[in-house]
Amino acid sequence: MIEVRGLQKRFGDHVALRDVDLDVGKGEVVVVIGPSGSGKSTLCRCLNRLETPDGGSVRIDGRELPAEGRALAKLRADVGMVFQSFNLFQHKTVLQNLTLGPTKVRGASREEAERTARELLDRVGIGEQAGKLPAQLSGGQQQRAAIARALAMRPKAMLFDEPTSALDPEMVGEVLDVMTGLARDGMTMVVVTHEMGFARKVADRVVFMADGEVVESGKPSEFFDSPASDRARDFLAKVL
Ligand code: ADP
Ligand code: MG
Repeated sequence: MIEVRGLQKRFGDHVALRDVDLDVGKGEVVVVIGPSGSGKSTLCRCLNRLETPDGGSVRIDGRELPAEGRALAKLRADVGMVFQSFNLFQHKTVLQNLTLGPTKVRGASREEAERTARELLDRVGIGEQAGKLPAQLSGGQQQRAAIARALAMRPKAMLFDEPTSALDPEMVGEVLDVMTGLARDGMTMVVVTHEMGFARKVADRVVFMADGEVVESGKPSEFFDSPASDRARDFLAKVL
């Protein structure tokens, strides 16, 4: 579903991604972990061209990422993204947040978009919040709304960049539960997170990044119980 080859990204003199390869199969859940500044967010952003790579290629479902225009808008709609800061449209209701993309980009009718939106809000457990503005919701509810909004576009894959890092601790579980449900339902997912419990339980594969490189990648049990590299061992010693 996602095929990354030799991805490179520099910011001035700083190399944020050096030659990154990544494959994510259909229905696979890949958790990306690594120290702050290792290039995890840059990788996510290059996957849907919020950031323009300096080299290498990204293919989604067999197609090279278009550089711009309508083709890029279409492809972005195929890859849902959920950020640390919920990024909801603050002046629109939760329901409107979910119907805007499908009606504008997917050409859905209003009735159809609202029906799907209500189903998704129920699925993430905030059906009663449909008429509220984002600011009237808790952080956990807002992030669940952001996930539902991404799902409303019927994406082929979902990217999560530290989706629980901005939440109060008591709200982390409800968001991880929604993500776990999505994974169980077969969604293709790339998840950047520091939630090692989630990585161990839900990931099909863990990718460890440091200094803009994929240092190692493997099954969660192998990675957590016997990391191959010194850098991964050092990292795990600090976070576990
Ligand atoms: P992570 O998400 O793993 O913490 P990032 O991908 O955000 O890491 O950043 C990787 C490196 O690239 C860091 O050193 C960061 O400072 C740098 N970086 C990221 N975005 C920019 C930017 N827009 N301009 C300059 N440097 C950036
Ligand atoms: Mg980051």
